[in-house]
Amino acid sequence: MQRVTPQDANAVISADDFAQTVVNWQRQHGRNDLPWQQHNDPYHVLVSELMLQQTQVKTVIPYFQRWLEQFPTFTALANADEQEVMACWQGLGYYRRARNLQAAAQKVVADYQGTMPQAMEELREIPGVGPYTVGAIRAFAFDAPAAIVDGNVKRLLGRLFTLPYVVNKSTHDKYFWELSEHYTPTVNNRRFAQGLLDLGATVCKPRQPTCELCPLQKVCCAYQQDCVEDYPKREVKARIPTRPGHFCLDINGQGVVLEQRPADGIWPSLWSLPECKEAPQGKPLTRFKHTFSHYKLDGHVWVTSLPPSDRPRRRIEPEHLANIGLPAPIRKLLEQLNWDEVCQIQL
Ligand code: SF4
Repeated sequence: MQRVTPQDANAVISADDFAQTVVNWQRQHGRNDLPWQQHNDPYHVLVSELMLQQTQVKTVIPYFQRWLEQFPTFTALANADEQEVMACWQGLGYYRRARNLQAAAQKVVADYQGTMPQAMEELREIPGVGPYTVGAIRAFAFDAPAAIVDGNVKRLLGRLFTLPYVVNKSTHDKYFWELSEHYTPTVNNRRFAQGLLDLGATVCKPRQPTCELCPLQKVCCAYQQDCVEDYPKREVKARIPTRPGHFCLDINGQGVVLEQRPADGIWPSLWSLPECKEAPQGKPLTRFKHTFSHYKLDGHVWVTSLPPSDRPRRRIEPEHLANIGLPAPIRKLLEQLNWDEVCQIQL
């Protein structure tokens, strides 16, 4: 693999020209009305950045608004009950982000009197804040220089410089970071970072990029060589496996039995139907599918007696399900279930 150095890239477009082009484009065509852009508040930036990991902007907006109503400050979030936090996050998936967000708020309150630090070394110590989020917080909250690399930036750079680096694995991330650092300006960082993300999300899109609207078209190597479809490079992924999961239903007039899941693994700390290792005798009442990043769950739901467990269990009435953190597919299942019918089966 032939490495593309910052000097090679600079021969295509200089750092100053690149920054100026992105900043000018963002000012005219970028997204400037997102809810978390209105105050540049570090807390708002942190919440939005964690929500936006693996999740699209349009999905995040209502969650972000509800979150700020319920937990308006670092202190409110730091002191909140964990179950309230998980309930507010439910449906967004990747629940570890919610726990990290609360742990981050607790650290900011405990170590920095509720004020987000600006220094990179301090930001790196905050739970849930990885290299991308450090850059995003510095740029969006403080308008300070810091490189950012995410899927959008990798795709844009991959096409712009016809990079041989793969974007769907971390193998070549250090080279993307090296280029991103080279192109990070010392001023206008908020607009520059937003411009990079906006270009990747709205123009240099994963499929059918609108090159005719791109301010970098004249220098884009993939466009000039008519090989945009060949970039960015991706490593072909193995198909993810499907695994069965067996969930037990115990419903009566007082509600359904839920069990709190372990803090590690899928759906950490959420309440769910108790699981059994083996399929019970007979036929499942219903089935559901859910896709995680590393496998597909083929869920079987059984009306059966519960297996022994040392995990906390509670019987919850249907009207109280809204106040408890449940995995989205389990919530959907319980909402669609005919509870009277299940009670009859159990009698
Ligand atoms: Fe992406 Fe097309 Fe712009 Fe090149 S010209 S950076 S491929 S949108």
